[in-house]
Amino acid sequence: MPALILKQGREKSLLRRHPWIFSGAIHHADENIASGATVDLLSFNKQLLARASYSPQSQIRARVWTFEDEPVDKEFFRKRIRSAIMARSLISPSPLTPLPEGEGNALRLIYAESDGLPGLIVDRYSDVLVLQSLTAGSEYWKETIADLLLEETGLETIYERSDADVRELEGLESKVGILRGALSSFVFPIIEHNLKFNINLQSGHKTGFYLDQRKNRLRVRELAKDKDVLDCFCYTGGFTVNALAGGAKSVISVDSSADALILAKENIALNDLPADKATFIEGDVFQLLRKFRDEGRSFDMIILDPPKFAPTAAQAERAARGYKDINLLAFKLLRAGGILVTFSCSGGIDAGLFQKIIAGAALDACVEAQIVEHLSQGADHPVSLHFPEGAYLKGLICLRL
Ligand code: SAH
Repeated sequence: MPALILKQGREKSLLRRHPWIFSGAIHHADENIASGATVDLLSFNKQLLARASYSPQSQIRARVWTFEDEPVDKEFFRKRIRSAIMARSLISPSPLTPLPEGEGNALRLIYAESDGLPGLIVDRYSDVLVLQSLTAGSEYWKETIADLLLEETGLETIYERSDADVRELEGLESKVGILRGALSSFVFPIIEHNLKFNINLQSGHKTGFYLDQRKNRLRVRELAKDKDVLDCFCYTGGFTVNALAGGAKSVISVDSSADALILAKENIALNDLPADKATFIEGDVFQLLRKFRDEGRSFDMIILDPPKFAPTAAQAERAARGYKDINLLAFKLLRAGGILVTFSCSGGIDAGLFQKIIAGAALDACVEAQIVEHLSQGADHPVSLHFPEGAYLKGLICLRL
């Protein structure tokens, strides 16, 4: 087995079970290691620390498959996939059978590092699995993993959405298409907490839907009754549909993508919700919030679920200004007793910083508000204690006093 030998003292993060080895920590790498191949990670004193996948082009040069002295082979991946599915069955009634009531039939089955499978994301949408391979290591084992997924879930179709930008850092090209089985349509409905949403496997964001917001969408449904709601960055209407289902008096939904708004409208119709209560605006949220402020508009509930402003800590400062801007404007548009549901999915901004930004926004907006709830990604997106980077979604529900 090819080996990487670490510089003296650079084994510390591995001993704390963090799964990444950066290029600067490597003292020696054997020659001609294939991209994605499995390597032994050795300390400077040649002690075996872990087995990892090798990413020759990335700054993150290796990612740990296992900290045990065990073979990394098909049975290893079977074990990992089984335990990921088992973990879901502990937190949701049944991850593998569509449920007429309850949680629905779409959830994340495998969440990369958090499930001990760096680079691999597998989401289930009804009877279709969507696989996203992000690293050289997950790419190397992709066909084996695809076979195992069918064996372990009993499902027949896998669609590949390996088109995330981060693949470039690994020297991998984008790959999209059917990996196993067949599909009669790329667009079909999934069920989430008894509501239907049309998913477009080809063009949907991420693997098709923002599964990470599932429980937060339900929370918005619970809070929306009789409220005038403004859903900013609404995408295909996840929060909008839930607000209407919860009895909102009116919902204004804003997104810059015309295609997303078409799907959002379809999703309202799909659930027989009152279209006359919904208004869609194609536009830039930053500008629209200013326009609404100038017009003296006000709302009982505002949802802010923007895209990632800061993928890494390096962009945190600029991103912080963006978050503060929209949250400040939102506080100004909130009526007394109104609710702000605000999110950040930026890896570069931690929960503490996000809370400070929101506090600064309320201060500058000259409003009194309190945090009534902390929100996060759902339990099908677990966070390994040794890989806190897995927790990217932070949210707050704030009540304007
Ligand atoms: N809330 C959604 C997910 C939002 S994703 C859900 O639960 O499904 C972020 C959305 O923001 C995308 O649809 C993108 O088109 C939109 N977007 C990005 N920048 C924007 C801007 N400046 N103004 C309006 N929409 C924007």
